[in-house]
Amino acid sequence: MNFPKTVKICEVGPRDGLQNEKKLLSTEQKIELVNGVLASGISSIEIGSFVHPKAIPQMADTEKVMQAIGKRKNVEFRALITNLKGVERAIDAGVDKVKLTVSASKSHNLSNFNCTPEQSVASFDECVKVALEAGLEVSGAISTTFGCPFEGKIPLKQITKLIESFRDIGIKEISLSDTTGVANPRQVYDQLNTLKKHYKDVIFHLHFHNTRGQALANIIAGMQAGVTHFDGSFAGLGGCPYAPGASGNIATEDIVHMLEDMNIDTGINLDALLCIAKKAQEFVGHETDSAILRAGKSSELIPNKPKKQIIL
Ligand code: ZN
Repeated sequence: MNFPKTVKICEVGPRDGLQNEKKLLSTEQKIELVNGVLASGISSIEIGSFVHPKAIPQMADTEKVMQAIGKRKNVEFRALITNLKGVERAIDAGVDKVKLTVSASKSHNLSNFNCTPEQSVASFDECVKVALEAGLEVSGAISTTFGCPFEGKIPLKQITKLIESFRDIGIKEISLSDTTGVANPRQVYDQLNTLKKHYKDVIFHLHFHNTRGQALANIIAGMQAGVTHFDGSFAGLGGCPYAPGASGNIATEDIVHMLEDMNIDTGINLDALLCIAKKAQEFVGHETDSAILRAGKSSELIPNKPKKQIIL
C-alpha cells in the first residue's frame, strides 16, 4: 500500500460539529475549544459559518469567536458562506478562507434553492471575486458526493460537472463530502483515482461522516488514491440531517490516532487533542462517537512487563 508521509487535517468541529447541536454553546466555550485545537498543533480550522443566524443560530457568533482568537501565523481559519453577505462578514471577521458549498444532488438543490447545482456554483462568481479582492482564499465543497437520500448513488459525471463549474469561477480546492455517511472504500478509491487523474490542478479534500462506521476505511482508501487532506471533528461531534440520532463526523482524534500508529505525520499532539475532545464532550453534555475517547490510545494498553496471569 502507498501511504503519504504527511497528512493535513482540518478541524471542522467548531462549525460542522457545533451547528448540529441542539444546545447552544457560549461564545467563551467556543473560544476555549478553538484555543485548545490550536494548542494541539492543528493548523487548519473551520471556525464557523456566516449564514443567516435564523437559519443556523448555533453559528450566529462566529465573528466574535474569530475576533477573540485573532489571526495566527501559519494557521488557516476558514468559514462556510453561501452568499455575498457571507463574504462581507467573513472579510470583516478576518478569516483566511471562505468555503462555498453546493449539493451534488439535483433534487436536493432544486427543492432548496430552485436551481440546479451547476447554476448554484455559477452564482458564486461574485462571492469569489469579492473574496479574492480582499485577499481571502476561496474553496468549494460538494455535499452528498458519494450518495444522497433522494437520488441514491450520485453518478461521477454529476460530480465532474460541478468540479468544472468550480474551476470555471477560479476555485481549485474542492472538498468532497460524504454528508450522509454512505461512502464505501472501493467507491472512494475508484472515484478519487479518476478525479485526481483528470483534474491535476485541483486539491481534493475529503470529509467523511461516520454514520455507518466506514469513515476511517474511507480515509485509507482516499490516501491510497493520493489524497492528503481530510476533515475531522473533535469528539466526533456533528450529525446527519437525514438520519436523526446517527453519529457525526469522524472524530479528529480517531484519525490522528490511526495515522500516528501508521507513522504518518500530522503535526498534531494527540494528547492535547484528546483533552480538547473531552472538553467538547463535556460542553455539549452527551456521549459522542469517539473511539479513542472511549477506549484510550492503543499504546496505553501495552503493559511494560507481561503480568503473571493465566490466559485461557
Ligand atoms: Zn459534514
